[in-house]
Amino acid sequence: MSQELLRKIPNVQELLNHSEIKNYPLDEVNKRFVLNQTLADLRQKILKQDIREINNEIIIKAILETLDQKNSYSLRKVINGTGVILHTNLGRSILPRESLLNFIEINSGYANVEYDLETQKRGNREKHLEKILQELTGCEASCVVNNNASAVFLVLNTLSKNKKIIISRGENVEIGGSFRIPEIIKASGAKIVDIGTTNKTYENDYKLAIEEEPSANMMLKIHKSNYDIIGFSHTTSIKELAPLKTDKIYLVEDQGSGTIFDLTRYNQKLTKENTVKDSLQDGADLVLFSGDKLLGSAQAGIIVGKKELIAKIKKNQLFRMLRTSKMVTSILEATLSLYKDEELAIKNIPTLKMICESVKEVEKRVDLFLKLTHESLFSFEKINSQATIGGGSLPGDEIESWAVKVNYKDFSLNKINDLFHKLPTPIICKLQNKSLIIDFKTIQEHEIERLVEVINNVNW
Ligand SMILES: *Cc1c(COP(=O)(O)O)cnc(C)c1O
Repeated sequence: MSQELLRKIPNVQELLNHSEIKNYPLDEVNKRFVLNQTLADLRQKILKQDIREINNEIIIKAILETLDQKNSYSLRKVINGTGVILHTNLGRSILPRESLLNFIEINSGYANVEYDLETQKRGNREKHLEKILQELTGCEASCVVNNNASAVFLVLNTLSKNKKIIISRGENVEIGGSFRIPEIIKASGAKIVDIGTTNKTYENDYKLAIEEEPSANMMLKIHKSNYDIIGFSHTTSIKELAPLKTDKIYLVEDQGSGTIFDLTRYNQKLTKENTVKDSLQDGADLVLFSGDKLLGSAQAGIIVGKKELIAKIKKNQLFRMLRTSKMVTSILEATLSLYKDEELAIKNIPTLKMICESVKEVEKRVDLFLKLTHESLFSFEKINSQATIGGGSLPGDEIESWAVKVNYKDFSLNKINDLFHKLPTPIICKLQNKSLIIDFKTIQEHEIERLVEVINNVNW
């Protein structure tokens, strides 16, 4: 009896092709997952004889119910039509495929997180990323924590608690999401020695502060992140500050974004900045940077530099609270491995790809979209656009892009924008000069089909 019922269950591909499932606004990977899960459930129920009848209608209904449950999640996929590549509100970096695959491999079973396969004894969870970071940045040692904000806090708390930190007034900034450097410094138990002026700080300002403040033990350089002072301004570089170091004065740089190699080689319009390796070579004792900004990987704060300082940081009890999970480690290791070959990194890390691809690639995506959408309530007009990197990376740098302007007949801009937010896969647009614009810089090729489906099926 149950064998007979089991035979009536169609295979997954057949179900995926069923019109109601095919048109369901969810990507194929997730659909397959839901399908397999639902079918396994049904088989169990049949074997236990909880179900005594089965047909396509029952199966499709069960699948659609599970799909709907999935779609009621709070954290959902959205289409980023803003042209802001590292959009903090939309989750910053999208992960490379290699990282996603490694994530599944490592996290769907057990892994040698803290187990050394050579000695067959307890191992160290930091070592998984240390070797590759040494290779890519030339650092002696590394450790990785929850995000760059916690990296800054941990470093200051470990090295400068009850001491003073010398920082330029031009770099004593707020980075967004209420991350304010002066408050972080205060909370870490250190005190600030403000030097220079808002627009100009010289080496000599650091030199005087070191002489005048015996309890200062750190020069902290902060990447200005999401603003820039242009015109009458002067800052000092790590190279200029390195000679001022003494046994008791550390030189630490919070790079914010942090790049592994010089991106201007692939996009000449970008502003050239120190790579992590440059800063270490120029004499920084520690360099801190985010995992999900220009690196293009998971949320993390990466600390690289001198071995003895990293050892101190790891001994801080706070490190135990701020360390990353094996989930993040598995994602980061795969992304960092792509960096062994620059070309491979540019091609396979979506963040870098978006920054470095030619504008023609974006145009192709727009053209594909225009070819597949049919005019209905809206029409689309192809326009030039300017995308930005965002996430406090390379402020002021713009990247050539293509977009579509959404023209609509009987509705107000706000009404259309609201509607786009309520779609099964919400579309977040750029609002510019009273127009609704979908910038294709931040829309991946594999997302276009979904975007078209959503647009073609808009109902009011
Ligand atoms: C973004 C940024 C931070 C915070 O990094 P998170 O990874 O978001 O915690 C700290 N410092 C600088 C200079 C930044 O640009």
